[in-house]
Amino acid sequence: MDFFISSIKEGFQLKAAVLEGREKLVIREIETPQCAGGEVLVKLEACGICRTDMKCYLIGQRDLKLPRILGHEIAGTVFAIGEGVKNVVPGSRVQVHPGIFCGECHYCRQGLDNMCDSIKIMGFNYDGGFAEYLRVPLQGVQNGILNEIPLGLSLVEASMTEPLACSLNMQQSLGVQSPDTVLVVGGGRLGILNAKLARLRGAQKIILLEQDLGRLVGAANYEFDYCINPLKTSAEKEIRMLTNGMGVDVAIPCCPGPEAVSISLNVMAKRGRFGFFSGLITEDFSRIDFNLIHYREITAVGAYGCSLEHSRQALQLLGEGAIQVNDMISGILPLEEVEQGICRVKELKGLSLVINFLDS
Ligand SMILES: [Zn+2]
Ligand SMILES: [Zn+2]
Repeated sequence: MDFFISSIKEGFQLKAAVLEGREKLVIREIETPQCAGGEVLVKLEACGICRTDMKCYLIGQRDLKLPRILGHEIAGTVFAIGEGVKNVVPGSRVQVHPGIFCGECHYCRQGLDNMCDSIKIMGFNYDGGFAEYLRVPLQGVQNGILNEIPLGLSLVEASMTEPLACSLNMQQSLGVQSPDTVLVVGGGRLGILNAKLARLRGAQKIILLEQDLGRLVGAANYEFDYCINPLKTSAEKEIRMLTNGMGVDVAIPCCPGPEAVSISLNVMAKRGRFGFFSGLITEDFSRIDFNLIHYREITAVGAYGCSLEHSRQALQLLGEGAIQVNDMISGILPLEEVEQGICRVKELKGLSLVINFLDS
């Protein structure tokens, strides 16, 4: 039996922020998605605005087909379940892992489901979280992508699960541990989340490189031990000094500029570990000295998104209070202001902006 579904009348409209074209985000009423057998309908309550949303809005993306509802940092309440759904209870508060993977390919079988050969992502290949309701497809429900939010954790905080899970993916691959010295480039929310996580994992010194003055000032409130403005001083010299001439054990550029990569490689210790966490917005790699990877025996690893297991672990860390994100939420916006929120992300104004549906 469909549960609650009778309460959604035929033709019931819902509000959604629909990306219809480049820089064309329209708030409009759309038909409420129906919840077929095996599917789940989630009433959305919080959805973070991410740089990826901004990229889709400004320049589009190869696989993005319009019109599309963006938003992949999703938390809400289960509103209805379709026939046959056993693992989800109506009324429960859930974080929605955005990746819908096949569960059968070479990568899925190893738990590397973010590398699935046929992955589809909500807010990208499917509609996402900038709407009042979200239909979770059968494959996602079966995979268990609806993660119950621990008691005491707010839906807004739970919407930070996905970016934390991406950071977890990165740092597990890098093996961040005590007594590492970790360099983070970029003091945006991913930079801060990486600093929080590195501290939790035992990093002894955490150094931030950031050239935006506002962010540099703000970063002092977080887990960074040293904040350096590369426009003001020789960052390389300073980092050498802070590490007794050795350089850093781990570098995680959390921004898309190629200079973040070049400076990080320059200040790495021998046998250091380098994380390709952000895609680079350049085709000009001429200033990056990749030979340093060879001479210093640096390990370079990539991280792209997060697996379902990373999401679950991240949600648990948030639930236990091991990682606190309350101090990072800089703005709660109604759905009608998604576009303004995206522009604020572009202008580096505000750290973590979350769309909240309760007040809209
Ligand atoms: Zn994101
Ligand atoms: Zn797969």
